[in-house]
Amino acid sequence: MDPATVILMLAIHLIASGGLMALVWRRMPGAPGLGRWALASGLFGAAYLARLLAGLQGVDALGLVSDGVMLLAVLVFGDGVREFVGRAPVPPRRVGVLALLLIGTEVAAAAFGGAQARHVALNAMIGLLYAQIAWILAAERTRQSAPLHAPLALLVAIVGGLSVLTLLRGAHIARDGMPVAFHGPMAQGYYLYASVTAVVTALTLVWMMLLRLNGQLADLATRDALTGVFNRNGLAQALKQHFDQRQAAPLTLLLVDIDHFKRINDTLGHATGDAVLQGVARELQSQLRAGDFVARIGGEEFLVGCVGADRAIVLALADRLHRSIGRLQVPAATGSERIGCTASIGVSASFDRFDGWEPAASQADEALYRVKAAGRDGVQSHLAACGT
Ligand code: GH3
Ligand code: MG
Ligand code: MG
Repeated sequence: MDPATVILMLAIHLIASGGLMALVWRRMPGAPGLGRWALASGLFGAAYLARLLAGLQGVDALGLVSDGVMLLAVLVFGDGVREFVGRAPVPPRRVGVLALLLIGTEVAAAAFGGAQARHVALNAMIGLLYAQIAWILAAERTRQSAPLHAPLALLVAIVGGLSVLTLLRGAHIARDGMPVAFHGPMAQGYYLYASVTAVVTALTLVWMMLLRLNGQLADLATRDALTGVFNRNGLAQALKQHFDQRQAAPLTLLLVDIDHFKRINDTLGHATGDAVLQGVARELQSQLRAGDFVARIGGEEFLVGCVGADRAIVLALADRLHRSIGRLQVPAATGSERIGCTASIGVSASFDRFDGWEPAASQADEALYRVKAAGRDGVQSHLAACGT
């Protein structure tokens, strides 16, 4: 295929993909990375169009501008990746300085070594920038939520492939000169790969955005906004998921209620009350093992699901939770005071089927009532009341 046609196709793909991402981004301006990716794709497409206008071989001002825009596009793309995975984006001033440095290298290569040096330098710089982006994506992949692993692996493969091909292309031009830059199987293969991956990358990025948003929506539906632990919906889901496992272990419920919480609100304000709720939720979560879970089921009431029926272990856990809440010192929302609180905990008997959870919650509630009646700040088990 004529090289100009392949590059035109690539430019169209990049601009169309950038346009698609910009459209999605307009609807979701807070979506991390998306705005930068749309801009990067558009810049890339514009750079290739400028290169076509400048003529593929020559060294002129428009050609150099196109190289500069291309380098900027890779930097912006990398910044979008950083933003998406939760790394701090490179400050704009630093991106500017880096872009100038790279463009300066490019201009110097063109001035001293002509078209061949310019292309070698451009491919080497872009290849290394891609390698860095692929490295970030690979390093961050396992830190993202499980559904994102597949699209991130695809992106590592695409960007890693681009890095290797771009570096090879630079080495090829260094060895065989300008004739191989736009002609021959290597150049054709390079631009075809870039053209196909321009589209696949954009779709993968939008796929990642949707997975991320889907996860956020699921969190909104199942998590308590104040404390981040499950809400009632999330509790029902966690219980169901647990008992859907083929050999689900029995569960025991612990109902944790903060003592005289209303007083904290009344004397220190609602914001300090909120801080105490957050502190207690954090403390509960930090004490639990994998598989256990905690939900906020009322104002200052938390339900803990403890995997396993061993009574001694469950009572030890209840005791540990009770003591750790008692040691908690939460900074007041206003002033430098630190606030402590105590909790009462009721423990159910263990149950081994999903539909056993409501009776178990009632048992935990009755046991909790007995702690309150006995003066609060303690633990009672349903089984103790039954004399077992
Ligand atoms: P007891 O020792 O008997 O459990 O007494 P208590 O004061 O802890 O319990 P009570 O049920 O009388 O009061 C619970 C309070 O929790 C009343 C309500 O205003 C407060 N509350 C409920 N939800 C929130 C919330 O999201 N934030 C704050 N700060 N307070 C809340
Ligand atoms: Mg209470
Ligand atoms: Mg209560």
